[in-house]
Amino acid sequence: MSKPVLVSGIQPTGKLHIGNFLGALKNFVTLQNLDEYDCFFFIADLHSLTENFDPKEKHDQIVNVAADYLAAGLNPKKSVIFQQSEVPAHSELAIILNNFASIGEMKRMTQFKDKSKSQAENVNMGLFDYPVLMAADVFLYDAAVVPIGEDQTQHLELARTLVRKFNAKFGETFIEPEPILTEAKRIMSLDDPTKKMSKSRPQGCLFLDDEPDVIRKKIQRAVTDSGNEITYDPERKPALSNLMNIYENMADIRIDEIKKKFQGKGYGDFKKGLAEIIVQALAPFQEKKRKFLANPDIIKKTLAAGNKKASLIADKKIKEVKEKIGLSLD
Ligand code: ATP
Ligand code: MG
Repeated sequence: MSKPVLVSGIQPTGKLHIGNFLGALKNFVTLQNLDEYDCFFFIADLHSLTENFDPKEKHDQIVNVAADYLAAGLNPKKSVIFQQSEVPAHSELAIILNNFASIGEMKRMTQFKDKSKSQAENVNMGLFDYPVLMAADVFLYDAAVVPIGEDQTQHLELARTLVRKFNAKFGETFIEPEPILTEAKRIMSLDDPTKKMSKSRPQGCLFLDDEPDVIRKKIQRAVTDSGNEITYDPERKPALSNLMNIYENMADIRIDEIKKKFQGKGYGDFKKGLAEIIVQALAPFQEKKRKFLANPDIIKKTLAAGNKKASLIADKKIKEVKEKIGLSLD
């Protein structure tokens, strides 16, 4: 029997941060290695056009995210790793699905509302349509599961609604995808614990590429709450609790153990410990990434092979969709 399909992607909008790593990428690797799913991981370059961009930088950002994938442990022998824009069925299906997405529902999407504020000078149709393209991304492969951070659960819920609507009208065509969340499903910014860490807000990010000294400096400067005791209390100590979350998931230990370790110690000691944990956890990743980036041809070949594999499946699905809605003259 074939395995359930897993699909997810990350936008090449900037350097990846530890939120992307703990909420998504680290889990991609774990899920891939379970051998329980047929995995598809893509570089969401079409999604990334919704923000202001420079074409010269875009090329490097795509290669960079591919290097992140490979350095983190995504393996082209186990997973299909590809570039979204190289599989035209994503765009085609999004255009078709647009006709079944209600504008009222789309207007409720918090990512659209947040980004409309943070990039008020560029509130474009792509930004509004992001959830429909995301639905196309997962429907094309009949994904049963989608590992994502918490910020994407609303989009996945909308995708599930689209599946029901479409299937009711045209017969069983798509599968309702379920999210897979990690414990670190929402890492907050280092400079403001009320805001999600986001590539588009670099001032709050700790990047996977940051050098050890930069990591130490950023953690030392991260905002903390009043008091000095190491206790986990997301309500009253949101900044410290966010840092403890990062510690927990970078070191793969429990919050209780962190509390015990820093009993009687203050924020300063905790931050020093945290910085070292992050430096150690990222060192092997950074080393591997340097090697991949020194060899961009390998990256490009890997993507080209993945694009072909993904296209075979996606093209079949778009054909099925066209037949179902009466566009096919065969
Ligand atoms: P942008 O600001 O350009 O939207 P981003 O940092 O939100 O960038 P995305 O490429 O949009 O990153 O998201 C990639 C994956 O990382 C998604 O699954 C998303 O849910 C997850 N993710 C993003 N930010 C966080 C975060 N702060 N904590 C946990 N997961 C996150
Ligand atoms: Mg995002």
